[in-house]
Amino acid sequence: YTGKTGSELLTEKIKKYKVHEFQHVPVVVKEDVSVYDAISTMFLEDVGTIFVVDEHSCITGVLSRKDLLRASIGQQDLSAIPVHIIMTRMPNITVCRKGDLLIDVANQLINKQIDGIPVVKDTENGMEVVGRITKTTITKVFVELVMDDQV
Ligand code: ADP
Repeated sequence: YTGKTGSELLTEKIKKYKVHEFQHVPVVVKEDVSVYDAISTMFLEDVGTIFVVDEHSCITGVLSRKDLLRASIGQQDLSAIPVHIIMTRMPNITVCRKGDLLIDVANQLINKQIDGIPVVKDTENGMEVVGRITKTTITKVFVELVMDDQV
């Protein structure tokens, strides 16, 4: 008997969760894709955040739902505006890596007030996008923790 309380055991368990165990497939577009096509991609792929990448699949920007809404309320022709004009761009992008602790990434989602963070792999060409962690990822983990305890 370790003498640990239930909450101490739960904390220990959560602090072992790494990004690579929970990451999902990222949805990406190239920089020259139009805002119109990015909006279509967001609906078709059913995601709230799209990552913008260069020819090496390395991250250059992020598109959120509100970024696309903001671009849509003017009179512009959305099929004529490339996403690199409106995206949040590097180096202002919060990223994580597969070995990072999930709890640290969850904290970043809160502190930076964002919905998703790309999982990147460092390459000679830049940070290649290999996955994503979103608020949905964290919500699923939260529910699974309770479900696992009940069996
Ligand atoms: P929404 O804008 O739809 O509420 P977010 O809260 O995720 O969605 O995005 C808020 C702003 O932060 C947007 O301008 C978006 O481009 C930017 N953003 C989203 N994810 C990241 C990230 N991982 N790193 C830096 N900026 C981000």
